[in-house]
Amino acid sequence: MSDSMAALRLHQVRTDDAPEVLQVDEVARPDPAPHQVLVEIRACGVCASDLHVAQGVTPHGPVLPQTLGHEAAGVIATVGDEVIDWQPGDRVAILMARPCHVCAVCTVGRHNLCPSLSVPGIDADGTMAGFALAEPAALVPIPPDVSFEQAAITTDAVATPYHALKRAGVGEGVTVAIHGLGGLGMHAILLAKLAGATVIGVDIDPVNLDRALDWGADEAVDASDGQPARRIRELTGGGADRALEFVGSARTVDQAVKSVAPGGRTTIVGLTNEQLATVPIARFVSQETELVGSFGSTPQDLGELFDLLEEQRLDLTRSVTATIRLEEVPEALHALETREGHPIRTVVTGLV
Ligand SMILES: [Zn+2]
Ligand SMILES: [Zn+2]
Repeated sequence: MSDSMAALRLHQVRTDDAPEVLQVDEVARPDPAPHQVLVEIRACGVCASDLHVAQGVTPHGPVLPQTLGHEAAGVIATVGDEVIDWQPGDRVAILMARPCHVCAVCTVGRHNLCPSLSVPGIDADGTMAGFALAEPAALVPIPPDVSFEQAAITTDAVATPYHALKRAGVGEGVTVAIHGLGGLGMHAILLAKLAGATVIGVDIDPVNLDRALDWGADEAVDASDGQPARRIRELTGGGADRALEFVGSARTVDQAVKSVAPGGRTTIVGLTNEQLATVPIARFVSQETELVGSFGSTPQDLGELFDLLEEQRLDLTRSVTATIRLEEVPEALHALETREGHPIRTVVTGLV
């Protein structure tokens, strides 16, 4: 094996005057510390967060030049001397975020809220490379019949909406409106149906609306007239029990809040720096409306999802809409930005 590897690195974030600078570089292959493993990356999903890093709108980092990517799966290449539970050749998915595992929130299982959380690809070198380092606590074994591509996207594109549906309290008999039908929103439909909910998909794009129905949504509501909440209240006789927001804009959050019934709960997943602006406080109070945020997922969420995959209760065969090479990532990010080709998940393969 050579001592170098290919890595997709961000050299310059986008500015008002210049586009971002992203290129495939030949870099040194990292050596695992005694407590780490080196994973040969076989698949890495392309996420809107990669775009946000390139646009320079993430709260921390990047530290340039920085390897992108945080949605990965592969095979363990080498293990550090102190690692006892994993062997070279093990097929693994890598947890998207790196919590400390020892602080007050980590010890109660809320690793996604760890104050020292770091996310590879966002504030440190990521997984769009031939190899990446990981701590054993960040690894989940991949069931034999699950592909690297599906395992990779499970760590974020599936786990993030899974966690959000739990935060939302979506289950049997609940009606949920899902606002924003990109990769995360589409997986929210799949998972909400699996949980026994009645699902209303909401988007401005007719292709996404058709696809939502195809993936099991009971209704699809076109939001392009700016009045989806009214339509949802008509369809449900007063509003959905729950709404999830995957767009990351104050306007869609407002639409989501207005789409729930009195006593309903809206869960925001989309990230934005905009301010909340929605219903008058008196109405919010008198209707006992709930508004919660949902961020990422926990190791427990990921374990549960791999169980669902292993039991073949969750089918992700339609989730990977394209596989590409590292060199094609800039183009894939552009397609994500313009929604060209309506990608659900584009996955980088052939990294080594
Ligand atoms: Zn992501
Ligand atoms: Zn912690």
